Amino acid sequence: MALKIETPLTVNAYINGEIVEAQDHAPRENPAKPDETAGYWPKNTVGEAKQAIDSADEAFKSWKHSEMKDRIERMQKGIQKIKDNQDDLAKLLSKEHGKPIYDAQGELTVSLMFMEYAVENAERVYKEEVNEDERGKNILRHDPIGVVSAISPWNYPLALSTEKIAPALLAGNTMVMKPSPMAPLTVTLVTQMVAEEFPDGVLNIVNGDADIGIELTSNDKVRKIAFTGGTNTGRHIMKAAADTIKNVTLELGGNDPAIFLDDFDVNDEAAMRRVVISNFLTGGQICMIAKRMYVHESIYDQFVEKYMEAAEKWLRIGDPTLEETTVGPVNNKAQLEFVQELIEDSRQNGYDIREVGNVADEEFFNNGYFMYPTVVLGADYDARIVAEEQFGPAVAILKFKDDDHAVELANDSELGLTSSVWGEEAHAIEIAKRIEAGVTMVNTAAIQGLDIRYPFGGVKQSGIGREYGEEGMLEYVDSHSINIPKTKDLPHIPQ
Ligand code: NAD
Repeated sequence: MALKIETPLTVNAYINGEIVEAQDHAPRENPAKPDETAGYWPKNTVGEAKQAIDSADEAFKSWKHSEMKDRIERMQKGIQKIKDNQDDLAKLLSKEHGKPIYDAQGELTVSLMFMEYAVENAERVYKEEVNEDERGKNILRHDPIGVVSAISPWNYPLALSTEKIAPALLAGNTMVMKPSPMAPLTVTLVTQMVAEEFPDGVLNIVNGDADIGIELTSNDKVRKIAFTGGTNTGRHIMKAAADTIKNVTLELGGNDPAIFLDDFDVNDEAAMRRVVISNFLTGGQICMIAKRMYVHESIYDQFVEKYMEAAEKWLRIGDPTLEETTVGPVNNKAQLEFVQELIEDSRQNGYDIREVGNVADEEFFNNGYFMYPTVVLGADYDARIVAEEQFGPAVAILKFKDDDHAVELANDSELGLTSSVWGEEAHAIEIAKRIEAGVTMVNTAAIQGLDIRYPFGGVKQSGIGREYGEEGMLEYVDSHSINIPKTKDLPHIPQ
């Protein structure tokens, strides 16, 4: 059923099957037009967070025994509601986030994709297996873990929430969701829409920042934390989880390298378009995006020339509501200032800074949290723009000497989320195998390189655990082995 989604939209907490009107709301500005309010999110109290956890804990007692058929039917109804409102939800997401409309529609598609994958595979992945041979019998169960706290970031807010909701509930867990205050509206609305299809307390949502996050990650009744966000927040969460040894999945920051081998064809316009678009998709505010570009020295000059040409052609910066816009504003002022600080640091170090792309409406641009996509050339390998996760529309392009050098540079980071290798396919695969990352894409990058049928996640300080694929679904269950061995005594026990 299509809802009437109008902005400014006021959302509220949904706890134990009921909308809970908050005492106080905070505005969420439209980053393309900061004097316009996209909507109002509830400033929930720690007491309300506790209430949500209590209701999820109570609901778990019966939901864990529910039939898989029932879980699937309910999730399908939730998915259908999202589909019925897909266009309006994309518009809302674009307005509160700043991402261009094509990008917001893409996020809706990805959000639905994994929910549907989870529905299609839940029966198979979570089924009880019985094995019997001459040594005995084993019943392998996949038991739900309990109350899951799900915490999502602002950059890809909806997809990073629905990818948690679907497997968690299908596995028989209950959940309390908390979105980021920088993009709270669409997630809150969608979570409520899905939650209405489930028994009271199975899916709840509260809003707030670290105060609510701390309650959700330290409360005794929470058994699992599914978190996506920055590495520093991940550290706090791991500590908060330690006291009661909670199960954690942490999808954290990335500083993803992209390697362009000597056999990469710089004249391949389609590939160069992919490079540029993937660098500045969602204004560069994506965890799985090339943030350090390493180009073989033999093709470097030509690469830069072709890259600039493609950037001029494909980067159209401006009003996110327009179909032709490819780059919107930065999501918030603090992030804009941080990226500008990295550019300023590059300027002070004398690096070659190039602003790229086209702005159609300067006045509009100057009013919002916009900046020109910026390419930094000639930076040192340890420059801030290279070593730190910029998470915005800026990228450094650097040279490397040979394959070993490229691998060494790519792996020279505490982070290891995704990466990409571009060039002749067999050569690129060979290099891909040497990179320390959870995902490596060949001849593509960013969301285009995501295959939700396979696990996604980070190594080193980019995280623990996986999302997507069968492995991602298994993060929401505890395996439970019931062993009935034929020989029940140890063979050498003295009589
Ligand atoms: P963030 O860590 O600041 O916030 C993420 C969420 O954590 C928000 O909902 C926030 O309110 C909450 N939070 C803040 N402090 C908390 C605390 N002490 N305890 C519990 N919750 C707390 O991240 P962000 O700025 O929203 O997102 C950007 C970061 O997320 C980037 O580093 C990016 O790389 C990362 N990210 C990673 C992935 C991935 O899949 N690995 C995906 C998207 C974004």
